[in-house]
Amino acid sequence: MSNWQELERQYFLRTFDRVPITIVRGQGVKVWDDTGREYFDFVGGWACASLGHCHPVLIEAVTDQVKTLVQTSNAFYTVPQLQLAELLIKNSCLDRIFYANSGAEVVEGAIKLARRYGKLKLNGAYEVITALNSFHGRTLATTAATGQPKFQEPYLPMPVGFKSVAFNDIEAIKSATTAATCAVMLEPVQGEGGVNIPDNKYLAQVRAWCDEKGILLILDEVQTGVGRLGTLFGYEQFGAEPDIMTLAKGLGGGVPIGAFLAKERASAFVPGDHGSTFGGNPLVCAAGYAVVKFIIENNIPGNARKVGAYFLSGLQDLKRKFSFIRDVRGRGLLLAVEFDKDIGQTALRACLDGGLLVNRVKPNALRFMPPLNITSGDVDAALSILNKALAAIGG
Ligand SMILES: *Cc1c(COP(=O)(O)O)cnc(C)c1O
Repeated sequence: MSNWQELERQYFLRTFDRVPITIVRGQGVKVWDDTGREYFDFVGGWACASLGHCHPVLIEAVTDQVKTLVQTSNAFYTVPQLQLAELLIKNSCLDRIFYANSGAEVVEGAIKLARRYGKLKLNGAYEVITALNSFHGRTLATTAATGQPKFQEPYLPMPVGFKSVAFNDIEAIKSATTAATCAVMLEPVQGEGGVNIPDNKYLAQVRAWCDEKGILLILDEVQTGVGRLGTLFGYEQFGAEPDIMTLAKGLGGGVPIGAFLAKERASAFVPGDHGSTFGGNPLVCAAGYAVVKFIIENNIPGNARKVGAYFLSGLQDLKRKFSFIRDVRGRGLLLAVEFDKDIGQTALRACLDGGLLVNRVKPNALRFMPPLNITSGDVDAALSILNKALAAIGG
């Protein structure tokens, strides 16, 4: 057997702080490493494996499509991108779509669309207000949009046109709005920022403010979209329809696809304004179509809501038991446990030893984003491993 981890150290730029296992196979909520050891995967391909690993619907769609047509170009019409477009638009409040290949790319596209709108409708307004502790991607513009200095400092100066204010604070958005503002961009629930859930009325207040000022509301649903929060889209739970919405992570069940959608009134692009070589290619769109169709037809968001509530109550039990748990929180199947000390890494390693993969989202917090079709039995198994792990590290 090759020493894969040694090869990684030899060949890779040093960006990833990886967990020391080499995953070679997945099935449902489980993955296996190269020694044959089994793990419950509550990272879920970073919230991408919405139906778990190797779901038959995904396998069939990709297998059929790879034998038929993989890539042409957006200079031509192809069918799977239209089928997925119709499905997403009929099941959302948005009217038009653009496809790309990742979360950062669709956020970047959404920013470009908002700037185009600002140029045409708002006297050249170009500034986008975002939230502190947000996460919008790793391109330069999306890094500038991301309200976390640690992502920006290594690359200063940042592209201009972004202003980050406190999350869950409507007054902060109001005082940051100027004649140069074209949009407010928020995650309905902040994911990478530590699973931060706003007050129920916050997004509706932001919506009303954007309407008052004639500026756009962009909801970055790259992580929260496609069922993760217990509804097909996160905005449904907050009484605030976006003008532009981004999707990626869970959209293709694990294949790389992203999309941003816009309401008719925000659809300011004309031919030539934006493009993508791979975006919307038949292979990934066939996967996305099969996955989203399955999610809708089988009420997978309902499962995420139900099993997520069960998971959250189990985490609350752990909080009562372990005094070093400061907070547990979540919506649907996006959940977190926060400790009163920076023991996230120790907790992650103890979970790993017990056969559970989790994400250390902050030095003092773990995040869980398992497949959306898991059962309460899977949650019981994960909670039991977590319980033992916390008992071992916390005493
Ligand atoms: C992960 C994420 C992104 C970036 O997606 P990539 O596919 O890694 O480029 C953007 N926005 C949100 C809300 C995310 O969670």
